[in-house]
Amino acid sequence: MAPRRDRRPTEHAGQTEQYGRLAHAAIELRAVRRSYGRGAETVHALRGVDLALERGTFTAVMGPSGSGKSTFLQCAAGLDRPDGGEVYLGGEEITRLSENRLTKLRRSRIGFVFQSFNLLPSLTVLQNVLLPQRLAGERQDRGRARELLAQVGLGEHAGRRPGQLSGGQQQRVAIARALITGPDVVFADEPTGALDTRTAHEVLGLLRNAVDTMGATVVMVTHDPVAASFTDRVLFLADGALAGELHHPDPQAVADRMVRLTARPVGAAA
Ligand code: ADP
Ligand code: MG
Repeated sequence: MAPRRDRRPTEHAGQTEQYGRLAHAAIELRAVRRSYGRGAETVHALRGVDLALERGTFTAVMGPSGSGKSTFLQCAAGLDRPDGGEVYLGGEEITRLSENRLTKLRRSRIGFVFQSFNLLPSLTVLQNVLLPQRLAGERQDRGRARELLAQVGLGEHAGRRPGQLSGGQQQRVAIARALITGPDVVFADEPTGALDTRTAHEVLGLLRNAVDTMGATVVMVTHDPVAASFTDRVLFLADGALAGELHHPDPQAVADRMVRLTARPVGAAA
């Protein structure tokens, strides 16, 4: 990976520690705002979100329906543009990049895992894993793709088509695909939402393993407190703002927190 230039090397002394952290953050949001519509109809989906996620960590994002999780993911992944604030990916500010640069950056530096797998049915498993490199115009590293497939337990299935695999197997392919470029961050949107409990745990174990053994950084939106308990840290969103976090979460603590957030009427003071 190319060395990253520190974008803001001359901050005043009091903030050294903070900016030192920035240099190591896989992703950082500063005062990110995003609203939809105008006038009285305006919906403030994100009201000023500040956070930094360290490299090599697994983070869950949770919150009631409509709290801004999808908007957060889209803004953080460069799929949507915030109305205000900045997003830094590996220390690089991406908020103001041209559409072209942003597309290139997404292809090489961000991995995606979706609830519905989103594999291309006409390509083989191996070709699906190589697709991000192909789209990014990078050399297609077949050896690496086979290695990743072996790591997700699909070493024998490289020549199959997605339609010949179970849902859990398809999601494993998607995880291998998300990791192929060695991205700064992998974003997973309800990656276990379409899977049964046992298969979901296998997929979560693989994401956990990618973080622990490959140094990947994973951010996952989920509704499931058990899924969240596989992560290092849970961030809670409510009404477009961060509403607390849990480190080393256990399912019960996560569930309790979700009940409290959901019970609070939207728009009520915290
Ligand atoms: P979540 O993923 O937590 O359910 P979202 O980020 O999807 O929340 O939505 C946050 C708020 O923004 C909701 O009130 C939603 O209705 C609104 N919203 C999201 N996307 C749009 C859009 N494209 N147009 C208008 N409103 C939107
Ligand atoms: Mg959503």
